[in-house]
Amino acid sequence: ERKAALAASSGPGATSDGHHVPLLANVGGPADVPAAVEAGAEGVGLFRTEFLFLDDSKQAPSEEKQVAAYRQVLEAFPEGRVVVRVLDAGADKPLDFLTPADEPNPALGVRGLRTLLDHPEVLRTQLRALAAAAEGLPVHLEVMAPMVADRADAKAFADACREAGLRAKFGAMVEIPSAALRARSIFQEVEFVSLGTNDLAQYTFAADRQVGALSRLQDPWQPALLDLVAAAADAARATGKSCGVCGEAASDPLLACVLTGLGVTSLSMGAASIPYVRATLAMHTLAQCERAAAAARAADSAQEARVAARAVLSGE
Ligand code: PEP
Ligand code: MG
Repeated sequence: ERKAALAASSGPGATSDGHHVPLLANVGGPADVPAAVEAGAEGVGLFRTEFLFLDDSKQAPSEEKQVAAYRQVLEAFPEGRVVVRVLDAGADKPLDFLTPADEPNPALGVRGLRTLLDHPEVLRTQLRALAAAAEGLPVHLEVMAPMVADRADAKAFADACREAGLRAKFGAMVEIPSAALRARSIFQEVEFVSLGTNDLAQYTFAADRQVGALSRLQDPWQPALLDLVAAAADAARATGKSCGVCGEAASDPLLACVLTGLGVTSLSMGAASIPYVRATLAMHTLAQCERAAAAARAADSAQEARVAARAVLSGE
């Protein structure tokens, strides 16, 4: 039955009763685009732009080089959405010319948007390159900042986007608990948020994402993490804005149903996971997803949450 469902899997993501949940792809650059198109992604939900910056440890790539790379990705989804994340340097992705060498706790240091606000010329160049790349294309460009902690961060990013003349939706990643708890205030400045559940788990449980021995605490089924997802999704619903997920959590088909039940409005994942998530979503109603989400949040551990959600979704 699962094989048949997978084979039939195509088209937009939706629950069995037709609640649309766009399924988008995470890409690291133009090389990942063919797999995303092949999987029927409705767009890109996370374009990690770090790859472009890895070639040269001394300086940022030129504006021309950035325009060419961004355009290749934007052209692949002519009518679709492409969510580009501006450079997320620091912590697990250090860049010699930007990341301070002497931080005692790099994950809690100058990374993500913090780095860009310290180096406004790098952010400016990237935003200008994105504006140029999107010029004349019908694509729906959305641009978001990593590691937004509060409303002031969101405003600083939105201001930089406006100053660069970017015609796009501006958004914030929610990957710090403070941003999830106060998502309503972040929504005063931006039109969408996207939950980075990898970092959100790291910061919620004070558990370094690079330490395998702490994987129990990195489990995205942890009810505390689901509570934070719910807080952000509730704020989106209350303000009429959107709240996607682009962390690893979105690629787990059962968890994708739970996230949908929590009110998440789009799911972005590695292309290989899209058919599985699409097939699983298509087997359940939105009301079932909502019941599974409530059951998972009522649990006391990730394992219990999984079992409880599975029981609801399999009709037990
Ligand atoms: C995340 O933190 O969940 C995320 C999507 O960003 P990255 O994994 O690139 O830090
Ligand atoms: Mg992250």
